[in-house]
Amino acid sequence: MQTITQAESIPVVRSVDVLVAGGGPAGVAAGFAAARLGAETLIVEQFNCLGGVATAGGHGHICLYSEYGTPVRVVGGVPFEMAQRVTKAGYGVVNNSSTDFEVEGMKLVLEQMAEECGAKLLYHTFLSDAIREGRNLTGVIVQNKDGRQAILAKRVVDCTGDGDVAARAGCEFDVGEDGTGHCQPVTLMFTIGGVDYDKVKKFRGNDYKLQAVWKKAQDAGDMRPFQNQIMGWWWTPTRPDQVGINFTHVNFIDATKAGDLTKATVEARKQAYEAIQVYRKYVPGMENCYMVSTPNTVGIRETRRIRGLYTLTKADVLAERPFADSIGYGSFFIDIHNCSGPGMDRKEQRPRTGFRYQIPYRITVPKDVDNLLVAGRCVSVDHEALGSLRVMPQCGVLGQAAGAAAALSIRQGVPPSQVDVATLQRTLRDQDCILDDADIARANPKAPARA
Ligand SMILES: Cc1cc2nc3c(=O)[nH]c(=O)nc-3n(C[C@H](O)[C@H](O)[C@H](O)COP(=O)(O)OP(=O)(O)OC[C@H]3O[C@@H](n4cnc5c(N)ncnc54)[C@H](O)[C@@H]3O)c2cc1C
Repeated sequence: MQTITQAESIPVVRSVDVLVAGGGPAGVAAGFAAARLGAETLIVEQFNCLGGVATAGGHGHICLYSEYGTPVRVVGGVPFEMAQRVTKAGYGVVNNSSTDFEVEGMKLVLEQMAEECGAKLLYHTFLSDAIREGRNLTGVIVQNKDGRQAILAKRVVDCTGDGDVAARAGCEFDVGEDGTGHCQPVTLMFTIGGVDYDKVKKFRGNDYKLQAVWKKAQDAGDMRPFQNQIMGWWWTPTRPDQVGINFTHVNFIDATKAGDLTKATVEARKQAYEAIQVYRKYVPGMENCYMVSTPNTVGIRETRRIRGLYTLTKADVLAERPFADSIGYGSFFIDIHNCSGPGMDRKEQRPRTGFRYQIPYRITVPKDVDNLLVAGRCVSVDHEALGSLRVMPQCGVLGQAAGAAAALSIRQGVPPSQVDVATLQRTLRDQDCILDDADIARANPKAPARA
């Protein structure tokens, strides 16, 4: 490859205690947790809003806050607070398991929450490199309208989903399924208006996925076979004639490559318009539906998983293995979309009713670099454990713990790997997080004791 060498002095424009890279579900929880502990905190985000997939990705549905298949809530803290706040503000609905909301309302609510806790925001800014001295990360290089700049930080929490900062800092990572390295497909969400949703629900009955419709349309040559089932219809009573559709599927994309992201976006937008034609022709209640919006970005399910002090595995998750350094719970099924075609993957796995597992703090601590934490879907897990842990409440659980640990590690004068776990856990409980059985009992006073 041809290269160009350019000597460059990069201005240091800012110095903060905790820099949170990326403002998605993990990033907001990390930023709010650190700021609430008094750390000077800056959230740097490439788009113009907080929320990540929940807003810039157009996905107005978050789940699961509860155990699998029961209403016993196992997630508190910032992820559940977001759901309660967006509901209170009149933009959504929440129960113990999930929330559905207008993505525009969520953007506003998250900015209000940032303002209240004093977390500072820097939008329209891309994190392009890491500054490292020996094992220590000391800041990041960003690029925006102002040019290339350095921001120094005592701790960085990488919540980019892709582990961009950690990868640039030289952390080892894994990608995709064992053997092939293929990641889950990417999806461009789209919102349709002009929908008579009651009529649709009547037609749909228990066939949520509408598989027969897509087969009929494909047999008739009305669409290409890129997908064979609806992955999600997201509806909120505050916008009764609109639904957000999780349907488009683009495989074999490396979402850390701009060329692949471009290709995926162009293809997925075509898929969305093809799907609207099928809805109009085949689904009662959608005869007059129309495209309202596609979001800023394709939704990315999987890229880098940064190697940490511990790697959470499918075996840990399915065995519901307890951890002394628990920072919260996961409970979603192993949700893996087909890594090489339409529909779900053969690795999808549904657990027993009441399934929940503890998440260890060590999966947020990279093994190779100090003063850096990772949170969200780029933590240290295997491909199948990620299938469960990647959902937004758990990304928030990870973010809140990593943000709190970042602030505490500054206070304690130790690297994140040596943070006193008991103090971290006490701090998270003070922030309404749920870490163990006793916390679950407190959050669910009416729930029967577990057998
Ligand atoms: C189509 C789809 C459907 C899903 N369905 C559900 C569901 O029903 N329920 C559920 O709970 N979860 C669902 N998920 C999973 C969940 O949304 C994601 O796994 C989760 O949002 C990951 O959170 P995160 O904070 O790690 O990353 P993201 O949400 O991806 O947030 C990362 C943020 O970092 C920013 N960023 C990234 N790189 C940079 C950079 N270099 N510089 C600056 N900013 C950067 C991004 O712009 C983004 O705002 C779905 C995901 C997809 C893609």
